[in-house]
Amino acid sequence: MLNKNGIPTLEDLRQVTPPQERLNKGPVAIAECFQCIPCNPCSTACPVHAITVQPDINQTPVIDWDRCIGCKQCVAACPGLAIFVVDMNYSDDLAAVTLPYEFLPVPEKGACVNGLSRAGAVLGPFEVVAARQAAGNNLTWLITLAVPKDPAMDVRNIQVGGAAHE
Ligand code: SF4
Ligand code: SF4
Repeated sequence: MLNKNGIPTLEDLRQVTPPQERLNKGPVAIAECFQCIPCNPCSTACPVHAITVQPDINQTPVIDWDRCIGCKQCVAACPGLAIFVVDMNYSDDLAAVTLPYEFLPVPEKGACVNGLSRAGAVLGPFEVVAARQAAGNNLTWLITLAVPKDPAMDVRNIQVGGAAHE
């Protein structure tokens, strides 16, 4: 339960997860912002105005998934590291999961890292297919992993070092 262990429930996640039909269309942002954080940089960063902050700024922002173009600007802007972009169309077998990262060392493109679940479980070694800092950002890195489609909605962090492809 979120307020006891920091892990969102399935019901929490259901409320912020795009429908499968939208996921199948390509990259889309998912705001797993459940901690009543009073801020709005995700909304101001979005170039297509797809993110609406609620009248109570503590509430989870709402993303218009039909408007979202998957640009990842909101991932870089979010101080809560709470937004992810998932592209289920990365390849026939793989999805691309982009997540924010603020630790050192930063993995390079081509590296193999462990993908972690929201609870910290290792879901597998995955390849880093992109690693970049958004221009003018607060130094948050955007790490993109190629992940089999099945765990793509569960990989939300990485562990650098110790991972190796089989
Ligand atoms: S990924 Fe880009 S278009 Fe989509 S909500 Fe975030 S900033 Fe807006
Ligand atoms: S910037 Fe991040 S923490 Fe702040 S409201 Fe948006 S999603 Fe939540």
